[in-house]
Amino acid sequence: MSADAPVTFTVDEERVGWIVFNARGARANVFNPATQAALAAALDAAAGSGARALVVCSAKERIFIAGADLSWLLSLSDQPAATAFSRDGQRLFQRLADFAAPVVCAIHGACAGGGFELALACHWRIATDDLATRIGLPETALGTIPGWGGCARLPRLIGIKPALEHIIAGRLLPAREAMQAGLIHCVVPAAELRSRARAAALRLATHGVPPPPPQPAPLPGYYAELRAATRTRTHGRLPAPVAAIDVVEQTAGLPLEVALGIEARLFGEVTAGDVCKNLIHGFLLREAARKRTLAGWFDGDVGGGAAGAGDGRPKDLQRIGIAGAGVMGSGIAQWLAARGFEVVLRDVEPEFVERGIASARGLFDEAVRRGRLMREDASTGLRRISGTTSWDGFDRCDLVIDAIVESRVAKQALFAELSGIVRPDTLLASNTSALPLEEIAGHVPHPERTLGLHFFNPVSRMPLVELVLARATSPAAAERALGLVRALGKSPVICRSSPGFLVTRVLFFYLNEAVRLWEQGLPTLAIDSALRDFGWPMGPLRLIDEVGIDVTDSIFDELAHYFPERFVRTTACSRLLAAGLKGRKQGAGTGFCSYVPEERLNDSRTRQVAGRVGELSLPADEISARLMQVMVAEAQRCLDEGVVRSEGDIDFALNSGAGFPAFRGGLMRWAQRTGLATHMP
Ligand code: NAD
Repeated sequence: MSADAPVTFTVDEERVGWIVFNARGARANVFNPATQAALAAALDAAAGSGARALVVCSAKERIFIAGADLSWLLSLSDQPAATAFSRDGQRLFQRLADFAAPVVCAIHGACAGGGFELALACHWRIATDDLATRIGLPETALGTIPGWGGCARLPRLIGIKPALEHIIAGRLLPAREAMQAGLIHCVVPAAELRSRARAAALRLATHGVPPPPPQPAPLPGYYAELRAATRTRTHGRLPAPVAAIDVVEQTAGLPLEVALGIEARLFGEVTAGDVCKNLIHGFLLREAARKRTLAGWFDGDVGGGAAGAGDGRPKDLQRIGIAGAGVMGSGIAQWLAARGFEVVLRDVEPEFVERGIASARGLFDEAVRRGRLMREDASTGLRRISGTTSWDGFDRCDLVIDAIVESRVAKQALFAELSGIVRPDTLLASNTSALPLEEIAGHVPHPERTLGLHFFNPVSRMPLVELVLARATSPAAAERALGLVRALGKSPVICRSSPGFLVTRVLFFYLNEAVRLWEQGLPTLAIDSALRDFGWPMGPLRLIDEVGIDVTDSIFDELAHYFPERFVRTTACSRLLAAGLKGRKQGAGTGFCSYVPEERLNDSRTRQVAGRVGELSLPADEISARLMQVMVAEAQRCLDEGVVRSEGDIDFALNSGAGFPAFRGGLMRWAQRTGLATHMP
């Protein structure tokens, strides 16, 4: 066995054998054919070594084993191929379970999917308390099920109900939670992992491995209820969680080797299916977005990856000014401050500043409640935000972000004023939803430092940021901004400046079309339920209420202004707005629906206000086809015009910024598969 192999085997002076995963030149260990072959060779060597016990561990800093290589899963073209993949992995891990001496799995860093299934085949599991250590079976979130023994072994270890809960949640657990759930036996400090694992291995070699305690059978009706609840929650769209329930039900009480056969068959069925491939496609797009560079966006050799180096705060962006302490300004301020940036938040009235800081405080409190931040870190973070109604402190800012009202005139005035206050090298960014950068900031001295940073609402939950390049934006400014987006843990899509960039443009063409159908006489419910059936989390009219009828109406204005030939503007929103219907504001309000005392359709009022007569009826699939066609056509135009560079960018942006149904993979992928892309006007 070569020392360069991704898995090596050595024996120490106490005759403990060490199987060490260390894929050369890679950040993570993953299972691919080479890793599997190396593990098989390491097990051959271990079998002939006379070792009293084995320890399996990783040499990586933050990863134990991240799971199976997803491109390998994608290549499994049919059910027999996917079932064979499962059987091969099961057999390999069974060699650990059957090993003549005890096997201890020593976990530090991510131990996910196939990595944890390997751990489950070992006789003892010990993990570090490091934040990087996260353990579990996330397969159902990727449209598949644990197929290397996870579905069969976990219920036998911790009981059927907790095992199915874990598998269906598809989430990784920190080490202590994993121990409480019974996934591992003990938690140790990272510095002690190897010595404690060796001690455990020697102890088990002397005293034997205690059998897991017997687990109670679930109550009658348990599987049927869980299956029904899962189908309701997933709207019957996701086969994997149901397949996991099927495996556990069908294998309860059977010998492990029979259970493994059933697991492999059902794994084959879901993994070869479209939903699994679509969800993996979405996952790979997210990964690619996190590593995005500016390569290809500027002439010459720019942006090949400098921005990608390191995850820390960019040294030249420490202090950030935000103009506008409204919904977006306060959300961006909190997110920046939580990540160590000094923030100065400006609004025009003291009460607006106070409201913005109170809103940031609320977001910090929520992060503490959800276990994302320690209380002291939240207090320190909040202290990093200072508020002002003047421009005090902006002369020391490295970046200023405009988050004031969406008005061309107001933003032009803001950038003109700012350019007299900030340093000539201060980056000037706008969070505008739709206005081209050149129009609002093109006139400032040194326009090469202007660009767009389009965050999505709510900032604390939405991973996407559109990084918008104006004609004048310099490569250096773009690199600095990209470094910031990465340091914030957000995922960028890079766009050329043009009206609405990508997401606003595509989404509001679609919303305008939904209003047109409504104006033509289709009931709100018919439109919204057709699109919910398609898989959107909410229908388009309900979404307009959420965004605000006022905001929607002004974006319709902007799109009509910029695309006079193609954007045939509807007028219902203007009429609803004139009658005081603004949509859902802070939980209350009225629009296409009313929300107090509870959510209800508001058709009789909206019809009367909009002066709508007559009633139209269309089949649901025709409604969704018509609206989706508008969306695909506009996305294709963004691609043709060079607003974005690839279909993958569109898919990622719409998945993460607009809630396109992930099980369909992505807008353009879906359009291609359904033939919609080839029938565009
Ligand atoms: P908002 O109305 O909640 O807040 C805007 C704030 O800007 C107000 O408090 C206002 O007093 C203040 N303001 C106006 N002129 C100012 C000035 N010269 N200096 C400082 N403050 C000033 O608006 P919002 O929803 O936070 O939107 C802000 C920007 O972000 C807009 O460009 C909007 O299109 C964009 N955006 C909004 C959303 C969203 O969902 N709300 C999402 C993405 C982007």
